[in-house]
Amino acid sequence: MKSKRVLRSAILVRLYDHLTDAYGLESPRESFVSGQLALREIDALLAFKSDPRIDELRGALERLEQGSFGTCIACKKEINQDLLEVDPAMRLCERCERLYSHMRIMTQQSMPPGQVL
Ligand SMILES: [Zn+2]
Repeated sequence: MKSKRVLRSAILVRLYDHLTDAYGLESPRESFVSGQLALREIDALLAFKSDPRIDELRGALERLEQGSFGTCIACKKEINQDLLEVDPAMRLCERCERLYSHMRIMTQQSMPPGQVL
């Protein structure tokens, strides 16, 4: 497992890139990514934005603070490091990811058209 600081900036880089792409954020990248911002300052930047990707990344930061980062939220096993490298916001291990995506497909198929959960 990488150090908390390294993981934190890996998440912040993605958050920053997403904010820049989606909202044209103009805060300097260095201060954002180097972790000089506290969680509540990040929250201030994110305020009023309802965006699932932001929620994912924000959740990853929170799990990092709580020490549950890298642990599958479903089965509590460790998530593959390579997968976390690709997307640090990952919450499920490979096995659970497969299981749940399968369940999602089943749910969608059994729903009548036009009906929303
Ligand atoms: Zn799992």
